[in-house]
Amino acid sequence: MIERPRLRVDVPGDGYHRNLISCQVACPVHTDARGYVRAIADGRFEEAYLLARGPNPLASICGRVCGAPCEAACRRGKVPRVDDDGRFVAEDRPIAIRALKRFACERYGAEARPASEVLRAVRDYVPAISADAEEMAALVRASVSGQFALAAGERVAVIGAGPAGLAAAHDLALMGFLTVVFEAESVPAGMLALGVPAYRLPRELIRREVAVIEALGVEVRCGVVVGRDVSLAQIRREHVAVIIAVGAKSSRGLGLPGERGPRVFGGVDLLRAVALGVPLDIGREVVVIGGGNVAYDVARTVVRQIAYDTARTAARLAGIGRVCLVSLETLDEMPADTLEILEGDEEGIERLNGWGPVGIDRDPGGVVRGVAFRRCVRVYDQERRFSPVFDDDARKTVPCDTVLLSVGQMPDVGFLADGGADIEQLRPGWPKADLRTLASTAPGVFIAGDLAHGTRLLIDAVASGKLAARSVYEYVTGRAIRSEAVTAHLPLERYQRERGYESIRRVSVPVRDPSERLARPDTCVEEGYGETAAMREASRCLDCGVTPVFDGTRCVLCGGCADVCPTQCLKLVSLSDLESHEDLSHAIRGALGHVTDVAEHSAILKDEDRCIRCALCAMRCPADAITMERATCNTNWSVS
Ligand SMILES: Cc1cc2nc3c(=O)[nH]c(=O)nc-3n(C[C@H](O)[C@H](O)[C@H](O)COP(=O)(O)OP(=O)(O)OC[C@H]3O[C@@H](n4cnc5c(N)ncnc54)[C@H](O)[C@@H]3O)c2cc1C
Repeated sequence: MIERPRLRVDVPGDGYHRNLISCQVACPVHTDARGYVRAIADGRFEEAYLLARGPNPLASICGRVCGAPCEAACRRGKVPRVDDDGRFVAEDRPIAIRALKRFACERYGAEARPASEVLRAVRDYVPAISADAEEMAALVRASVSGQFALAAGERVAVIGAGPAGLAAAHDLALMGFLTVVFEAESVPAGMLALGVPAYRLPRELIRREVAVIEALGVEVRCGVVVGRDVSLAQIRREHVAVIIAVGAKSSRGLGLPGERGPRVFGGVDLLRAVALGVPLDIGREVVVIGGGNVAYDVARTVVRQIAYDTARTAARLAGIGRVCLVSLETLDEMPADTLEILEGDEEGIERLNGWGPVGIDRDPGGVVRGVAFRRCVRVYDQERRFSPVFDDDARKTVPCDTVLLSVGQMPDVGFLADGGADIEQLRPGWPKADLRTLASTAPGVFIAGDLAHGTRLLIDAVASGKLAARSVYEYVTGRAIRSEAVTAHLPLERYQRERGYESIRRVSVPVRDPSERLARPDTCVEEGYGETAAMREASRCLDCGVTPVFDGTRCVLCGGCADVCPTQCLKLVSLSDLESHEDLSHAIRGALGHVTDVAEHSAILKDEDRCIRCALCAMRCPADAITMERATCNTNWSVS
């Protein structure tokens, strides 16, 4: 007789329900995205902002341009979408978490009120259910109440005012350090100000969010190049600790024939020039090499510059110019976000997929005439490692007068020569850091942001700046700021969902028309949600912090809960159908004592991916065996 395969199940243990809140788990600073989305759905907009701001000093900036790992993890994007009759229609789409954060920030964030008011609101805020009582929110409160003996005004230096440096400085100031940030450029915020184009992130918003950090007492010294105006050795002498967060701002080259010379630029150099209003000799037939988001920032910025120049000088210039983005990858493989590709297409960027550059053609006078490409037949090997293969017989030349290389960035840590001899490098240009503490090999020197972990998202840089600040605290004071997450379950007496929330389609974020976008280079593409749209979109949130909890002692095994479940996520099975493992045996012993015949007992299984927290099971249960409960995560934090 063939035995039926047994089901492998997870048994909820400590932290299980907390980990179901996938948006919060995916966020590098563990923002309670679920919390602020639900607050928006309920019309509690200021609370939504404060939940977003608690662990993230750059919440308003993130509301515009965060890479939003929370959205990628959102469970709504994975559950089946059902129609009004409860029939499966298709996979659903995630909650527009980033756009909702923007909505809350626009009402109560740095863009809406003076820095002092933002700080006061953050400090006074004590969440009713502190599902997100992360260290930061607690730290903000503690710094005011004097609850803990924090630092005693020691001087700490941060090199680089990008998101990592700013987040570190913010937290250091709250801990009681005198913090100075040395920034090479004339403006703070690193790649946010010099890379991310203004049509995605307004400069005034950056200024206002940085002003909140300065209002905490952080001194940002712009226009000071470490290694030129001040040495690392001097900074180390004058400060008890140093965080190096200089990012990776040098464009990588490809070493192509013809690459060196006029009118071949690094993509981030072009973005920096445009951001600072520095004139750059760009032609009107531009090839951008690269297939990622940065390549799109470059191409879309050039399209805007050409359109703007054309509008201003239409009488004198013939033709409107052309921007062609060429990537090794096919359209499906391109690392750029789908939205970037779509909007780039709308704005008239030509796209060539599956071609690798072999050289830049210049005429005898050195003038760029085009880029020669060969067909790329494969980019990644079977292990998804970058390993391109080319067909040398398939070639083409794309005529152009300017080439922009957007194939990655490198750090420039030349300043380590004076004062950084004891900082070991992992490979040339990349200092070695203990990823648990971000300590370098030199005492009192920490590494944060892109320089510590390679180029990633802005929110990764924020998380690493915060970690570096905590490590500085421990290094300087000999004490550690520790946090311990404690999960508790709160029964919800009158839990109810919005009518029809399960069939509401994702509310698109309104965007401006391409012609309007191109009319002025810094016109924001996304317009953001209004109140009605935001509340509707937020109401789609599945509220993963809530879960039905089954009381086995009351259950009468009627199966009504499974029958009524619209996503068929519940299943009543015999215990003998389950694959035995230690956790399961332990749970069975806990519930039933020593069982001799498991076939006599049953279990309710729940498919967590499909449960939409509708509570129909709880309503249907004739024995009141199911309660809807909120898993709350309080963080007990201490300094030891
Ligand atoms: C074009 C572009 C667009 C991006 N768009 C997004 C996006 O939409 N969403 C997202 O999540 N992420 C995005 N990123 C990634 C994100 O911006 C970075 O991961 C993040 O900025 C890294 O932060 P950081 O603080 O480590 O470094 P940076 O932001 O690079 O900041 C480092 C700072 O150090 C300063 N510095 C360097 N050398 C010295 C020196 N010798 N002395 C003094 N100061 C110095 C620099 O001037 C700079 O201000 C983008 C990146 C680029 C390049």
